[in-house]
Amino acid sequence: MTSDCLFCRIVAGEIPATVVHETDATLAFRDIAPKAPVHVLVVPKAHYADVAELAKADPALAGQVLAAGAAVADAEGLTQDGFRVIFNAGEHGGQEVFHVHAHVLGGRPLGPMVS
Ligand code: C5P
Repeated sequence: MTSDCLFCRIVAGEIPATVVHETDATLAFRDIAPKAPVHVLVVPKAHYADVAELAKADPALAGQVLAAGAAVADAEGLTQDGFRVIFNAGEHGGQEVFHVHAHVLGGRPLGPMVS
């Protein structure tokens, strides 16, 4: 828990979020500014700044985040038509919240990857 981290505070229940999936190690909640009909963020409950830090420190937990993302996609009815999972990392990756999170997006054709 990092007291100045927004997503740590969501994990701790200090800031409200619409939780759609939870495991011992992960939490998934709806993005407050959805970019698609389904836009869910999946975070590890433990604090890691970005996907590179998470994968290096705890690859098994990185796998749990991906598994949770796939479970969310299934629960949200996205598996038949498809969906996208994105990790933004660092300044060039457009990361704004420095607690690693997977975006699970779907519910419409998402088009090509962003430039
Ligand atoms: O990957 P990036 O760090 O840019 O994504 C952060 C995401 O967190 C944004 O999509 C933003 O809408 C979302 N967010 C949220 N709840 C907050 C603050 C940000 O869902 N309280």
